[in-house]
Amino acid sequence: MKTFNTRKEVTEAIQLLRNQGKTIGFVPTMGALHLGHLSLIKESKKENDITVVSIFVNPIQFNNSQDLKSYPRTIETDSKQLQETGADILFYPDEKEIYPDIPTEKYEFGQLETVMEGKFREGHFNGVAVVVKRLFDICLPHKAYFGMKDFQQLAIIKKLVLKLESDIQIIPCPTIRETDGLAMSSRNTKLNNEQRRQAAIISKCLFDAKKHYKEYTVDALKKHIETQINELSEMKTEYVEIVDDINLQPISEWGSTSAMVVCIAAWAGETRLIDNLSL
Ligand code: AMP
Repeated sequence: MKTFNTRKEVTEAIQLLRNQGKTIGFVPTMGALHLGHLSLIKESKKENDITVVSIFVNPIQFNNSQDLKSYPRTIETDSKQLQETGADILFYPDEKEIYPDIPTEKYEFGQLETVMEGKFREGHFNGVAVVVKRLFDICLPHKAYFGMKDFQQLAIIKKLVLKLESDIQIIPCPTIRETDGLAMSSRNTKLNNEQRRQAAIISKCLFDAKKHYKEYTVDALKKHIETQINELSEMKTEYVEIVDDINLQPISEWGSTSAMVVCIAAWAGETRLIDNLSL
């Protein structure tokens, strides 16, 4: 695996590979890699000649400076894992490399960004869009891999690619979970033992909802999930939403849309966890 720290060097290397007819798969990450990230890399390796991974903790997508400061950074073990998984190129830039100047781009995503993460994390998706566009321009992928764990982010990226009239193919990848169901996340390492044990209730509620949702009205199911999490654990829900798979708008009754997704954000102490499941 080759590691590059500058835009110029990585773009030149990838352009050369493209000129040789190689296909490029790209997996953008913020590091602190786990099996969820590695599953995206494995998928890319299956479908492309070359797999490029970026590790960049993107400051402009954090709306909370403490969260940015405490975000786990484990570049040495990340690099080792990437090597073992067979990534071909690691792009590991510093902040100046991605943002030589203060970024001023503004993207509009309409109703996709007025709910859930967009509502509770102001500016988050603009920050995501800015960095993903820049990373796409630098890493020149044919295909880019994103996890369904970040369901709303995936919808935003698909819209971004449409807006940019880019021919990069966005490949959604399923959520990888711990054995107790908790969705893998870099932020899980911030949980203490008790928080980690209690966090499994999020996915338990999602899987129960998938089985039993028809026994409730939409509102009653949301309330039931909130009660379960807030009363059976020390976690606090930020939102529980049941939304249309395509436009991400909350639904009010079953059957009003063909595909529905239950989305949860909850705080375990200072750590914010998100998860979702298609019904
Ligand atoms: P992050 O490093 O958190 O920005 O995530 C980088 C990519 O990995 C994003 O596309 C995430 O959706 C994806 N990802 C994160 N956690 C998981 C998971 N548990 N399963 C599958 N993909 C994931």
